[in-house]
Amino acid sequence: MTLSLYDTLSQQKKPFTPQDPRNVRMYVCGPTVYDHPHIGHARCYLVYDVLVRHLRTDGFQVCYVRNITDIDDKIVAKAQSLNWTTRQVTETYTASFHEAMRALGLIEPNVEPKVSDHLQEIIDMIQTLIDRGAAYEADGDVYFRVESFAEYGKLSHRTRDAVRQGASGRVDQDEPGLKERPEDFALWKRDRTAQQAGGQPTSWPSPWGQGRPGWHIECSAMSTRHLGPTLDVHGGGLDLVFPHHENEIAQSETATGKPFANVWMHNGFVEVNKQKMSKSLGNFFSLSELFRFVVPEALRYYALTVHYRSPLQLDWTTDAEGKVTGFPQIQEAERRVEYLYQTKQKLLRDRHGSSQRSPQGPEHAGQRPSQDSALDRTLERCAPELRAALDDDLNTPAALAVVHEFVRAVNDALDQASKQKRALAEEVRTQAEQGFAQITSRLGLAGEEPGAMLTAMYRLRAEQRNIDCQQIEQKVAERNHARQTRDFARADAIRAELRGWGVELMDSGADTTWRIE
Ligand SMILES: [Zn+2]
Repeated sequence: MTLSLYDTLSQQKKPFTPQDPRNVRMYVCGPTVYDHPHIGHARCYLVYDVLVRHLRTDGFQVCYVRNITDIDDKIVAKAQSLNWTTRQVTETYTASFHEAMRALGLIEPNVEPKVSDHLQEIIDMIQTLIDRGAAYEADGDVYFRVESFAEYGKLSHRTRDAVRQGASGRVDQDEPGLKERPEDFALWKRDRTAQQAGGQPTSWPSPWGQGRPGWHIECSAMSTRHLGPTLDVHGGGLDLVFPHHENEIAQSETATGKPFANVWMHNGFVEVNKQKMSKSLGNFFSLSELFRFVVPEALRYYALTVHYRSPLQLDWTTDAEGKVTGFPQIQEAERRVEYLYQTKQKLLRDRHGSSQRSPQGPEHAGQRPSQDSALDRTLERCAPELRAALDDDLNTPAALAVVHEFVRAVNDALDQASKQKRALAEEVRTQAEQGFAQITSRLGLAGEEPGAMLTAMYRLRAEQRNIDCQQIEQKVAERNHARQTRDFARADAIRAELRGWGVELMDSGADTTWRIE
């Protein structure tokens, strides 16, 4: 069984055969840092996170490059509106992006190149394109001559006529009639107004005068610099197929004479009422808004319930004043995450309990009941089936079905063992722990310490219900004191009072934890 991935260029699933398994070259278009990251960013980068995890779990060494676009007209506009320098804007929102991606548990890229650090590479590539007759300078701008690249349109499967018609229908204020043909696109834009933001210039010197690089050339120049001319995987959102990636191919293949990417992966949008979620439509949520309602891992789980090429639907509820009160699908996913962590917590406690009991010898601790063979099979199947699901073009819904069956089996085994007042059989526990390790390694789920994760979840739920966590903790302490002093009537009364608030108590030995449904 080997990994196959759907390739947008050839429009088919292809076996994944990197140029060098010890150096898989993977490039994903990163964010333009002029605002806080939203749910659409998370969906995109989670897809490639799972791919990196899956490849590394199977022994590939992956060099994962994801850029930061820190030169862009939107950044200049934002800086001017705040009277900041562009650097203040990009540093602020890069930090915000990093914080959200860390919260989601994303593997950090090996290299995160910034456009502002690669102007020389960009200028060099533009010069090469000019030298090859594929680009031309016009009044301080430089444009790519689309006609020079015979295969233009091959990624988005557009004919030359369709490209031309589409371009001539567009009126672009930034391009003052300097292009030879409407479909040509900018590699470098002259700074005609000597713009400033926060008292600093917003352009860079070049052989064609002060200006800024076009968006498309950045990725070509930075990916070549860090990964060489041919990528094993190039990824990004579906909206980047045209024109961004089509233009990247034209630039890169003209400049290097080599195929640009062996697999082109594109993830679907987050949709609201069948419309793409986007800043321009105003129907988007920043991740920090969402994380007031759910733990970040709930979004990871929810994103994985849908295949990466399909749209991910998002709903939310509001109160009478239109204030957002919840995200039902992601909250439902959080219950699944909760179940994962509850099971993992029980498993850890079982290990702890069994190590305390172990002096009794194996005939008591972890004795193997005969009916465990069906359980064994379920546990054994977890790792290979998880792998097989992801090998099939990252079929994460199928992978989650495997996870669900596995976790239920572990839970049943733990419950049975607990009823019989014994620990899990050693082999069963080992298989269960290995299964969890695979789930974390390949999907990035259930990797945190269960107690901390569950506490974080219940604290968020308490906040949403206006329940004061400190008061809960205080009641729990009072009840523990009552239990210690054998005042069981008082202890029961406190439990009942908390239940009235929607708080459920769980005792495990002397420890009491609480949860909110
Ligand atoms: Zn790009």
